Amino acid sequence: MSSIFTKIINREIPSTIIYENNNIIVIKDINPKAKLHLLIIPKKEISTINDLKENDKNLLFEMFSVAKNIVKEKKIEEGYQLHFNVWKKWWQEVMHIHLHLTSDL
Ligand code: AMP
Repeated sequence: MSSIFTKIINREIPSTIIYENNNIIVIKDINPKAKLHLLIIPKKEISTINDLKENDKNLLFEMFSVAKNIVKEKKIEEGYQLHFNVWKKWWQEVMHIHLHLTSDL
């Protein structure tokens, strides 16, 4: 079964899309925990950070590069958080990796 993020990528459910390229989509979190709360999501469905493979390293780098570009564009270089939750005991709700970008600046 495809994840909710794959459904967003495939336009089966709506979302506010901030950025998209061949490998990555960035959306606004539906339940923001900060003034800015974005999710940087690879189009490849990887369940958790535990499932990353060696050949995902470029994808990971690209996710952080996209985050860095957004940070620059939003002028929040002086204060933000990037994090992954991993597994349900640490609040991973959606089993399709996503990098949270949050800031109150
Ligand atoms: P996590 O708990 O790390 O798995 O984070 C999942 C995040 O996805 C949460 O912050 C949710 O608010 C967010 N979320 C769930 N469904 C949607 C959706 N349809 N559109 C945007 N964000 C969503």
